[in-house]
Amino acid sequence: MILPGATLGVLGGGQLGRMFTLAAKVMGYRVVVLDPDPQSPAGQLADIHLKADYRDAVALIRMGGLCEAVTTEFENVPAASLETLAKHCRVAPSAAALAVAQDRLEEKSHARASGCATAPYASIESAADLDAAWAAIGAPALLKTRRLGYDGKGQARVDTAAGLAAAFKELKEVPCLLEGFLPLEREVSVVLARNARDEIAFFPLAENQHRHGILDISIVPARIPEPLAERARDMAAHLARELGYEGVMAVEFFVLKDGSIVFNEMAPRPHNSGHYTLDATACDQFQQQVRALCGLPLGDPRLLTPAVMVNLLGDVWRPEPKWGELLRHPGVQLHLYGKAEARPGRKMGHYNCLAATVEEALGLALETRAELGIGVD
Ligand code: AMP
Repeated sequence: MILPGATLGVLGGGQLGRMFTLAAKVMGYRVVVLDPDPQSPAGQLADIHLKADYRDAVALIRMGGLCEAVTTEFENVPAASLETLAKHCRVAPSAAALAVAQDRLEEKSHARASGCATAPYASIESAADLDAAWAAIGAPALLKTRRLGYDGKGQARVDTAAGLAAAFKELKEVPCLLEGFLPLEREVSVVLARNARDEIAFFPLAENQHRHGILDISIVPARIPEPLAERARDMAAHLARELGYEGVMAVEFFVLKDGSIVFNEMAPRPHNSGHYTLDATACDQFQQQVRALCGLPLGDPRLLTPAVMVNLLGDVWRPEPKWGELLRHPGVQLHLYGKAEARPGRKMGHYNCLAATVEEALGLALETRAELGIGVD
C-alpha cells in the first residue's frame, strides 16, 4: 500500500487531473502533474507542476523519481511514456489497458470477448474495405474513426454506399469502424473502481443526455429497471477483469427500444458522467482513483442523494455567468475548473443539483439551466 504522505503523479493537467489532485491532497498525498500548459487546471493546485510534453524523457524520468505511483487523466498517452515511467514507479492503469481504450476496434472486440453485446460493426482499413463493410452493416450506419474520436467528433451518419465513401474521404481515410445505427431508448454509464486485489466497487448508474455530441446532463439514479442496471454492472466488471484493469474506469451503454443493453465504449479513467459522485456518493470517483492507485481498500460508492449533474460549457460565458444567482439554490453544488479562456464546447465546470427525489433534482437542473440560458440555441 502507498500511504498518505507519499507523492502521486498524474499525466495530464485538465479538469480530471485537477479533481484527482484535490482528492489526493485531501487524503494527505503530495501531487506531481505533468502538463505542458503553464495554466493547466491541475497544475495550479499541484505541489509540483512539470511543464513539459508527455513524450519528454527528462520530465518523465524526473516524474518517475519523484512519485511512488502515477496515473493518467486521458487515454491517448503515448505507450512509450508509460513504459518509461513504469521503470521507476507503479503505473496504473497499464499501458496495455490504455491501448485497448485508444482504439474502437480493439475496445469492441474485447467487449465482445468478455460477453458484452455491441452494435454490429465492420472494420475499414482503406477504401478497398468500403463495399464489404457496407454489405455487412448497411443503412442506417455511423462511420467512426478508430482513434482519437471524442465528444461526437470523428464520426458521421451514413445512409447510402456513396455517402459512406464521401464520409470516409471527409475523415481523411484513417482506419474506421462502420457501426449499425441503433434505436436508442437511453444512454447510461457505469463508473467502477477495481484494485489489485480484484475488489470492485460500482457507482450507481448515470443516465446521460448529450447536446451537440457533448455530455449535457447526467441523471442519477438512471431511470432503468434494476435487472438492466445489474446486467450493465456485470458486463463492466467482466471487461475490467478481462483487461486486468486497475483503477477507475467508465463504461458507456445504450439501452435499446426493445429493452436490451449494449456496450458502446469505455474510458480508462474517471468520467464526466461520474462527476455527480463529488457531492452525491459517500466516496467520489477521484478519491476512488487515489485508493485504487495506492492499493488501498476501495471506498463506499453508495448514493446518499439523487443528483443531476449539469455541464457548464464555454458557450454560457457571454460573459461569465453570475454565480451568485445559481448559488441561491441551496441544492446546487458548483465546480469550476480554473480555465482562463472560455471557448464554445470547452468544459469549464459543472454543477450538481441535489434533491430528495430524482424528479426534483431534474426540476432544479432544468430551472437553473434555463436561468443560465443553457439550451436556448
Ligand atoms: P461515441 O463517440 O461512440 O460515444 O458516440 C457519440 C454519440 O453518438 C453517443 O453518445 C450516441 O448518442 C450516438 N451513437 C454512437 N453510436 C451509436 C450507434 N451505434 N447507434 C446509435 N447512436 C449512436
